[in-house]
Amino acid sequence: MDGTFNENDLSRVVEADRAHIWHHLIQHKPFETNDPRIIVEGKGMRVWDQKGKEHLDAVSGGVWTVNVGYGRESICKAVYDQLMKLCYFANSAGSIPGALFAEKLIEKMPGMSRVYYTNSGSEANEKAFKMVRQIAHKKYGGRKTKILYRDRDYHGSTLAAMSAGGQDERNAQYGPFAPDFVKVPHCMEYRKEELGLGHLSGAEFGRAAADLIEEVILREGPETVGALCLEPVTAGGGVITPPEGYWERVQEICKKYDVLLHIDEVVCGIGRTGTWFGYQQYGVKPDFVTMAKGVASGYAAIACMVTTEEVFDMFKDNSDDPLNYFRDISTFGGCTAGPAAAIENMRIIEDENLLDNCTAMGERMLGNLRALMDKHQVIGDVRGKGLFLGAELVANRETKEPVTEKQAQAVVADCMAQGVIIGVTNRSIPGRNNTLCFSPALIATADDIDAITNAVDAALTRVFG
Ligand code: PLP
Repeated sequence: MDGTFNENDLSRVVEADRAHIWHHLIQHKPFETNDPRIIVEGKGMRVWDQKGKEHLDAVSGGVWTVNVGYGRESICKAVYDQLMKLCYFANSAGSIPGALFAEKLIEKMPGMSRVYYTNSGSEANEKAFKMVRQIAHKKYGGRKTKILYRDRDYHGSTLAAMSAGGQDERNAQYGPFAPDFVKVPHCMEYRKEELGLGHLSGAEFGRAAADLIEEVILREGPETVGALCLEPVTAGGGVITPPEGYWERVQEICKKYDVLLHIDEVVCGIGRTGTWFGYQQYGVKPDFVTMAKGVASGYAAIACMVTTEEVFDMFKDNSDDPLNYFRDISTFGGCTAGPAAAIENMRIIEDENLLDNCTAMGERMLGNLRALMDKHQVIGDVRGKGLFLGAELVANRETKEPVTEKQAQAVVADCMAQGVIIGVTNRSIPGRNNTLCFSPALIATADDIDAITNAVDAALTRVFG
């Protein structure tokens, strides 16, 4: 740490935090006796807390965000220069970084054409949902309003985004939700017995898992189904990589029933899986792509909803109908800091070859985690793509009974004590966050990767013997 804060300042910060901050996603009761953790500083792959303790961050800011690492002067400078020139103007007018980032982004997304700026992943998803609903009214006489979402996928924290939320634990106590969101089954090969597909494997399983979506479309009536919203690799629902053959069949089904395909790249977008977008790993042609976290690596708040010229054209209209356009705004979608940071973020990824590094380091990490499976019976499954990986912990490899939440949290706490921050995700059984989750920045070196998996090895030995 650079010593900007002395001990007195920091104890004041801790007290202010304890007195006034409502932290995200945690129970506050323990803060009555324990200090909240304050992250003070970050550089590269590392962060320092209020006690000056250094941590190797294996989760890119906690939630898969800081893709290019901390302390990037060039991004800070791009944001500073832009803010001095123009901080904001509502996005009904254009801005220089807004136009230039959109151009750069679309270059990486063949087939896509239009960028709608907003400021969170939830909001980006809601924009696509609203477009689907409006298309249903404009083109299908008010039918085709249904939006399908998948068990275990997550699309955000607002009520409409939660209506498309496939994780029961997150949704409990927040209903009722918006109508016409319909759940389809997950595609998790490790737990294929839950789908009644235990007898299938490989591409046969993948196609059969996608066929379960077709069954839902037929049950609901294809004339009522407007869109299917999926994560390319399910993130918070357990780091679920799609099985072989799944996406090809999903694409066929969408085409067959005239269902728009919305891919939620809030986590996978901008390099996390080793390609610019997760869907590009599977040769998919989406109608909507939403992205947020890695777009500017957390240096500024920015999210995008990207669509095709075909969808855009449906909203172009010379008629006198005053309702004929997409009547939507996001105030902070007009901030210029986001696209200014995003341009520089993308330049760094290109110039430093971070997509290739992500692929290489992801393979190394996958190999390390698979090697740990031989030693630790508690690891039931290891999965992932690029630098987005999960290790599912089970009490029994035969029954696949998850370990308790307490045990999984003990592994996370042990790693934390060793100075390595890892995550744990929800596999949709209330109280059973049992999947360790890793998403180091795309700059990770082989030493960083080995340090992370060595910490996990030591933690598993201490917690499970
Ligand atoms: N979609 C996915 C796949 C996510 O993981 C998240 C957040 O974790 C969101 C959407 C919501 O993004 P935000 O928290 O920026 O609203």
